[in-house]
Amino acid sequence: MTQLIHRNLRITPPSAVCAFGMYVRDSDGNTYLDASGGAAVSSLGHSHPDVLAAMQAQLATTAYAHSAFFTTDVAEELATCLAQNAPGDLNNVYLVSGGSEAIETSLKLARQYFVENGEPERRVFIARRQSYHGNTLGALALGGNEWRRKPFAPLLMDVARVSPCYDYRERPASQDVQDYTAGLLVELEHRILDLGPQNVIGFCAEPVVGATLGAVAATPGYFKGVRALCDKYGILFIADEVMCGMGRTGTLYAIEQEGVVPDIVALGKGLAAGYQPVGAVLARDHIVERLRAGSGVFQHGHTYNAHPVAAAAALAVQKVIRRDALLSAVTMRGTALRRMLRDAFGNHPNVGDIRGRGLFVGLELVQERETKRPFDPDLKLHAAVKTAAMACGLMVYPMGGTADGRRGDHILLAPPFIATEAD
Ligand code: PLP
Repeated sequence: MTQLIHRNLRITPPSAVCAFGMYVRDSDGNTYLDASGGAAVSSLGHSHPDVLAAMQAQLATTAYAHSAFFTTDVAEELATCLAQNAPGDLNNVYLVSGGSEAIETSLKLARQYFVENGEPERRVFIARRQSYHGNTLGALALGGNEWRRKPFAPLLMDVARVSPCYDYRERPASQDVQDYTAGLLVELEHRILDLGPQNVIGFCAEPVVGATLGAVAATPGYFKGVRALCDKYGILFIADEVMCGMGRTGTLYAIEQEGVVPDIVALGKGLAAGYQPVGAVLARDHIVERLRAGSGVFQHGHTYNAHPVAAAAALAVQKVIRRDALLSAVTMRGTALRRMLRDAFGNHPNVGDIRGRGLFVGLELVQERETKRPFDPDLKLHAAVKTAAMACGLMVYPMGGTADGRRGDHILLAPPFIATEAD
């Protein structure tokens, strides 16, 4: 029998036959409210007429042009739009086909920058435990999700680890938030010094952690401290905004809320809101200028770089976000959503924490609120939650805890920005 390989080799998921607005319908006629945008992807909901029209118009002119031969107006316009709305001098945009590609591109750009800067000994990245940066080998190596890494560990480059900034579970009750944050920064500095700053390429982190922790924002001042350490030791700060970027937290770039400018930003998911597979990397001027003045080429490239239809979809998404004032809608709806969740589950014995920014919201499930004791991961509670929600006609994005108890099961909500309070 020939068949499509699904994520779960024993279960064929329902077949989606049509999707519109906040809803997805399957071939059995069941309708699901999309409260997670898939995996925080569908930020404009489904079948948005502006995005469909932009894609159709692009298909009718140039469906594909290889980036080794041509550029296109639509890719140039998208790059300008992303750069003009980015903080600082993140003026340089490289377009790829998804989040993992954006991370691979970021890693290679950072490495090539130092090679061309006369610092070829820089070869180590630092990233956090409990992080996810994608599934390809470089991105998987960077990520700190041990379950995902385990079978492939012998194939992965060495990455130095530091603790996540996870106030709810990792800050000791005896410590205030300021001291906790300072401690994390001391840990990062010690790691840099242990490795030898001259050997370190960059530090990579999600401004708001998505899949692994469930919408966990950093404590105040954390990213300012990270930026200061990176500057002190000449290390690049790479912000992975694949999940939290593009308006999801109420600002176009999540890092804007931290008041710092990363050297490199990786985007995906919400960039084209699921209408096309697309990712992007933004880099500051000094990085690209170094390559331009040096070899003159970035030694990287994919067949589908700057795909015109993907660029048209992403550009249309940008225009809709602006025209319909969706960033302020995200902030307002997010506040309302967390309020409603607190009203409904704030005293629930098994809901330990309700958190997030904008329409990026996490609920952490616990056996006991007092001790924050997580459920046994072997129970696969997250899988049961997903099945139960689907049976009720609801899409949420749950994730399991870890055997060492350093992370509980959580449910991620990332509804489309067009959601109303009634939704
Ligand atoms: N980085 C983060 C923070 C992500 O959440 C993801 C996907 O979930 C990726 C990178 C990888 O993106 P993709 O699945 O598009 O390759």
